[in-house]
Amino acid sequence: MNLQGAVAVVTGASRGIGNAVAEELGRAGAKVVINYSGSQEPAEELAERINQTGGGGEAVAIQADVSDPNDAQRLIDQTVEQYGRVDILVNNAGINVDKPMKKMEVEDWDKVIQLDLNGCFYTVHAALPHMLEQELGSIVNMSSYIGEAGNVAQANYSAAKAGLLGFTKTAALELAQSNITVNAVCPGFIETDMTDAIPDDVKEKITKTIPMGRFGQPQDIANAVRFCIENEYMTGATLDINGGVYMRT
Ligand code: NAP
Repeated sequence: MNLQGAVAVVTGASRGIGNAVAEELGRAGAKVVINYSGSQEPAEELAERINQTGGGGEAVAIQADVSDPNDAQRLIDQTVEQYGRVDILVNNAGINVDKPMKKMEVEDWDKVIQLDLNGCFYTVHAALPHMLEQELGSIVNMSSYIGEAGNVAQANYSAAKAGLLGFTKTAALELAQSNITVNAVCPGFIETDMTDAIPDDVKEKITKTIPMGRFGQPQDIANAVRFCIENEYMTGATLDINGGVYMRT
């Protein structure tokens, strides 16, 4: 899809990977909805930056908790009110609540599944009627290499991220004839607030397992998301951007 003038919703775009994705799409000339949950200031700062940069990109920040189906619907409704359509949906919002299974409570499981897996369906469910009517759309789901490989203390997170891969393929099959592509991106370890929470000694151990010897940057993932959107013949694909760490698992 040509990004110039296309309308893109990026969930969880106030910080980290989503922030870099939204900025990249704005730079490419898209009209970007920067969704956030609580971090209004950074979301609005990014919108202002995109609006001032020129190159055709525009942006607006919209608060919505996409783990709530009503909020997800409102996010898409407000997008259509603002920009008249929705061409691109990047399901990026995600959290982790890491605990070994013997300590994991039902609430820990539900919280992660509710946002990281169900939230994706809620936004797709709301955006789909518009994409079907337009016969045009691109959906990119932010999975994780943990969804492919599994990881100790991440049963909830790996289940949600693996679920996204199955959802991506099924949605790709169902929507191909409507000219809607659906792809997934699986980042490895990327420097964001999510990985900042990892203790330094654990980070050092992780880094030793990464063939490229370092964590990735949000921009590495933003480039992959842009590739998914711009490549009109790619659907049902999973892009691994992980410095080679998956080969070591
Ligand atoms: P992050 O820095 O913690 O940022 C998370 C973003 O999600 C924030 O913008 C946050 O908004 C938003 N968010 C949280 N709960 C939300 C909700 N209920 N509704 C809407 N937005 C919500 O995380 P990140 O590292 O950039 O991760 C982004 C995505 O990439 C996640 O799906 C994550 O699982 C995936 N991923 C990350 C890595 C990594 O190494 N970092 C690796 C693989 C996959 P507020 O600021 O308003 O809270």
